[in-house]
Amino acid sequence: MTITLADILAARKVLKGRADATPMVPSPHMEARFGHPFWLKLEIAQPIGAFKLRGALNAVAALPEGVAGVTCCSTGNHGRGVAYAARERGLRAVICMSDLVPATKVEGIRALGAEVRIAGRSQDAAEAESRRLSETEGLVRIPPFDDPHVIAGQGTIGLEMLEAVPDLDTLLIPLSGGGLAAGIACAARAINPRLRIVGISMDRGAAMHESLRAGRPVDVEEVASLADSLGGGIGSDNRLTLAMCRDLLDEVVLVTEAEIYRALQTLFYEERLVAEGACVVGIAAVEAGRVTLTGPTATVLTGRNLDMTVLARIVAGQDVRLGDTLIEGRPYAA
Ligand SMILES: *Cc1c(COP(=O)(O)O)cnc(C)c1O
Repeated sequence: MTITLADILAARKVLKGRADATPMVPSPHMEARFGHPFWLKLEIAQPIGAFKLRGALNAVAALPEGVAGVTCCSTGNHGRGVAYAARERGLRAVICMSDLVPATKVEGIRALGAEVRIAGRSQDAAEAESRRLSETEGLVRIPPFDDPHVIAGQGTIGLEMLEAVPDLDTLLIPLSGGGLAAGIACAARAINPRLRIVGISMDRGAAMHESLRAGRPVDVEEVASLADSLGGGIGSDNRLTLAMCRDLLDEVVLVTEAEIYRALQTLFYEERLVAEGACVVGIAAVEAGRVTLTGPTATVLTGRNLDMTVLARIVAGQDVRLGDTLIEGRPYAA
């Protein structure tokens, strides 16, 4: 099974007027510092505060009449997208998450009327619970990334980015399970095969990176991260995103927690924008010299459903403790 530009164009019709046309804004700060135009695709402006609504709406729209309801596992934003899409269709939704998911995300999902199940300490445990519910209660599973409709939905972001700025040279895409990167890369490569496309993850628990190196799905230990939305494995039975990331991405780059901390400050002080750690990995990679710009570049600000007390500490340059990790504070200096 493969995803093609035609699937992404079909998804665009489903999403029209509901979860599309987010702003693409320039960053004069990044251009001045790194010498090339730099663009931010603001998926933080989605009704659920994250791009995951695109894939969720496209997948739920594809369900036949008369289904009992939907279930999924999620690091938070996919669950919110599925809850929103299910509510629109009047369907029951049960969202399974691990206890690593921040409380703000859990509350956001409940507020949309979905049921929440907290299952264990990892995405794998949440996934097992979601499978169980699908078998016992007949709920249809909406996978967070390894699903053709989800990938095609996320791919619509790639169409919009290249329509807004046709001469893009490089895309920096936050990478976890790879639905976002696979979808965007599929659309973008179909339009411009010469684009450079870089996936970016945090350096601790980068499941797709390890899996690409091994050539098969690899389990990684899940640890707390400022980029919590990038946590979790790629699924031992991965069907689509591993092969698509292998074929469509030029490289994968990893960034540290300290680099994410710093990039969140940059986004706040220079762009006056608030977003999750998962969104700023592209900015972090450029600031840390892990990616060198070679022309007009864009990254996706994927979501803004973060714990504001953590952001307040980062903005103030204070230490942040996440699980057993301490990220040392540092005041922002341009
Ligand atoms: C899910 C998510 C990602 C990563 O998307 P994948 O398709 O799993 O690679 C990045 N940022 C945010 C905010 C997310 O919710």
